[in-house]
Amino acid sequence: MDMNRHEFQLDDLIERIKANDNRLVALQVPEGLKMQALEMMDSIEEDTSARIILAADPCYGACDLVHDKMQRMGVELVAHMGHSQMNIDSGMPTEFINVTYDGDPAIDPVLPILEQHRRIAESRLSRVEEDRQMSEEEAKELFVDAVGRVSPLKGTKLGLVGSIQHLHLIFEYKERLEAVGYEVEIPVGGARLSFPGQVLGCNYSGDSDEIGHYLFLGSGDFHPIGLVLHTGKPLAMLDPYTGGAEEMSFERIEKILRQRFGLIMSCDEAKSFGILIGEKPGQMRRNLALRMKRKIEKHGKKGYLLALEHIGPELIDFYPVDAFVNTACPRIAIDDSVRYAKPLITPFELEVALGEKKWELGYKFDEIP
Ligand code: SF4
Repeated sequence: MDMNRHEFQLDDLIERIKANDNRLVALQVPEGLKMQALEMMDSIEEDTSARIILAADPCYGACDLVHDKMQRMGVELVAHMGHSQMNIDSGMPTEFINVTYDGDPAIDPVLPILEQHRRIAESRLSRVEEDRQMSEEEAKELFVDAVGRVSPLKGTKLGLVGSIQHLHLIFEYKERLEAVGYEVEIPVGGARLSFPGQVLGCNYSGDSDEIGHYLFLGSGDFHPIGLVLHTGKPLAMLDPYTGGAEEMSFERIEKILRQRFGLIMSCDEAKSFGILIGEKPGQMRRNLALRMKRKIEKHGKKGYLLALEHIGPELIDFYPVDAFVNTACPRIAIDDSVRYAKPLITPFELEVALGEKKWELGYKFDEIP
């Protein structure tokens, strides 16, 4: 990754610090940009009379805003870099700093994948009725169709999404794709998302049944995995850092779904659950955790509420419970469950394990609205 091609938009932050005459500012940067943090601190301190404290704990999203701990340290303003504002109040004045990447890859490498996916979407649209009539047994065998059954198709549009540092290019890419014959929709999501086309690892609320397949502008498979688990729709990826194109394979998604199904089955005999509540402002789902506790108790089992800021195997494995239900960042259960000694499942998966929801009617991704 060429860091010189990232633009850190510090001007608004510097203006705000000067206007408020802030003396102590906390800077929060995502993991991938921490190497540049000291340089940024120098640059802000040179241009203002503020001292900068790096909030050096790991930070993976705007759900993890610096909050009252820094207030107790006397911090007056939080500068949060690389993520956009979401529908939470951390209790601290916060300036969000945009980071953009100028990579502008050609669409040619991704076109053959998109063509194939458009055909899949067209064929799915033509057999929506058949899918509706599929028996529960058939659906159970077809993990990917089980995901697809969550949102029956009404169209075959190409949904164009991206990670935040590439969203400034999204309308230009829409025009390029329309010029080669695609009907493109840039999804607009709910209050947790700030920009058209934006997706988070825990929120794909812009999805609509008019969209038959997706193109993701960004790198890595974190967002693509979540989007396909959420929608069951084919997804191509175009990486602005390398110009490379690939698809999120159905085999990969099927493997994840088989693993999820195995974890649900392994909770069949569980008598006690640890219910994890995330303390980070944008991950805290106390009411959901309490609802899960009530459900567990209704089935004659024990549920213990455990609140944590960070969640890791070393922090929970030793509790004498049979399994854990995660209500913090949904991706902890989905992406990291193999690291834990006991089954770690999502609230939907708990409901399936308790017999209250049916897996066969469609896998439900754990979304934070
Ligand atoms: S996926 Fe997890 S880390 Fe990312 S924004 Fe959502 S809750 Fe936060």
